[in-house]
Amino acid sequence: MEVALLPIEEMGREILEAIREGLEGEIPGARCHILPMRGRAPSKAYNPRRRQYRSDRFLEQLRALKKGIGVNRLLGVTLLDIYAPGLNFVFGEADPKWGVAILSTHRLRPEFYGLKENLGLYLERCVKEAIHELGHILRLRHCPDPRCVMHFSNSVWEVDEKRRGFCPRCLNLLRYYEEIR
Ligand SMILES: [Zn+2]
Ligand SMILES: [Zn+2]
Repeated sequence: MEVALLPIEEMGREILEAIREGLEGEIPGARCHILPMRGRAPSKAYNPRRRQYRSDRFLEQLRALKKGIGVNRLLGVTLLDIYAPGLNFVFGEADPKWGVAILSTHRLRPEFYGLKENLGLYLERCVKEAIHELGHILRLRHCPDPRCVMHFSNSVWEVDEKRRGFCPRCLNLLRYYEEIR
């Protein structure tokens, strides 16, 4: 199972390396490679009133880029604050049909909540939410188990509650979906 990681803007290499290691460690048979930085957010994504970017515009951009890159699964990573209409923010959004997802690390940083910088905690949250979005690309849905990485997190505190791994049920589903593909 190949997945490409696309940084939308310039970001710390440690973020991308941590995500790569996490995806390869938790998803059976996953091979992840890091693409060169894209360099700009999609056009028409920015909402000046909200000072946030629309997540669906990133998915559109990723769908268009995916053909040129020639990968089956593409996960974009942005530092920008993203939202979906009707929601205050999202940590990420996936489009399983097209095999693309976007992850925003903006609200995973402790500093966003006025707390002290903590790189280890920040990276762990990035890894969990990246695995979560790739899980959606691989057709998994939200899981009721609050410790499972596929649990829906409404806040960063709920991200901290869950592990980076899949519960046995989600892991079985993942293996099953891979076989029938
Ligand atoms: Zn989700
Ligand atoms: Zn689960």
